[in-house]
Amino acid sequence: MKAAIYYGPYNLKVEDIKLHEVGDLGAIVKIRASGICGSDLHPYKQKWERYSTGIVIGHEYAGDVVEVGSKVKDVKVGDRVFAKAMLPCFECDFCKKEDYMHCRSAKSGGVWGLHGGFAEYIWLPIAMLDKTVFRLANTMSYQDGALVEPIGVGTYVVNRAEPAHSDTVIVLGAGIIGLGAIAKFKDLGVSKLMTSDISEKRLKAARELGADILIDATKEDVIKRVMQETSGKGADIVVEAAGKPATFLQAIDMVRPDGKMAVVATYEESFDFNPSLARPGMPMTSLVRKGVRLIGCLGGDWAGGFDLIKRGKVKDKQVVSHVFPLDKIVAAFEMQMNARESIKVMIEP
Ligand SMILES: [Zn+2]
Ligand SMILES: [Zn+2]
Repeated sequence: MKAAIYYGPYNLKVEDIKLHEVGDLGAIVKIRASGICGSDLHPYKQKWERYSTGIVIGHEYAGDVVEVGSKVKDVKVGDRVFAKAMLPCFECDFCKKEDYMHCRSAKSGGVWGLHGGFAEYIWLPIAMLDKTVFRLANTMSYQDGALVEPIGVGTYVVNRAEPAHSDTVIVLGAGIIGLGAIAKFKDLGVSKLMTSDISEKRLKAARELGADILIDATKEDVIKRVMQETSGKGADIVVEAAGKPATFLQAIDMVRPDGKMAVVATYEESFDFNPSLARPGMPMTSLVRKGVRLIGCLGGDWAGGFDLIKRGKVKDKQVVSHVFPLDKIVAAFEMQMNARESIKVMIEP
């Protein structure tokens, strides 16, 4: 089968490789749509410790089950699914009880040495319905299925931030994770939902998913605007989904005293900041003095992402900006790196 192999930064090659045997407990899925994640871009741009070379990356995909192992119970050939490739150790206490999902040393598709989704097919070592394999609703396209994982990362942030209906919220960065968070905040209902980005396209998508206030960070001072919109108090919740040192610091500036700052972005650059010091010209910007409740948020809420997409709160047409064939994966990665032009770029092998 054809697959895109990751050989290191800026080195992705489409090659012919042998598909793994299905195995007793596994399944083979023909990939119909496979999304490029922000977390795929980090190892593409620079050496990234979690990613081994010589593997197929990609962890956001959907397709058709074309083969199942002899011991697979409730996953059938012909099922339209999105899935999670993971290989348990089969030796730990959890695995001995056949509770593979809790295996502590499981390998994961596209990350720790197991092939991922930028390929014609993917091998799922363990096929268990509603654990590693999820059936698409009839109303969902394959692209919708491939969006469940990233939208689920966005809904996870909102779960962590525990918004109240009266809260004012700003989401910094309207990439796919920020958009997932916006859709979830909208679904729960908050008093004012703001977002900022440098891309008109992403802001337009944010509007469609329910943002009330769009701030174009190339034209407007985001902190000033958030202060105006919150009568000078600052936002109750700031979601940092932009991932730049500047946006992290701005988030501290625009959250209200005792407010929550939920950080989901992956930062490519390190930076220094002193949590105790206010910055020049910005009174009350000390994280400590202000009592900011800082929440780290990297996790996935697949059920939450699935639920929003199933109910049509996020649709492929709103957030998938480009589709490329597998042969053009390098061009697809280049497009995904162009944050002004792209939202979610998909591969259709
Ligand atoms: Zn992802
Ligand atoms: Zn195990």
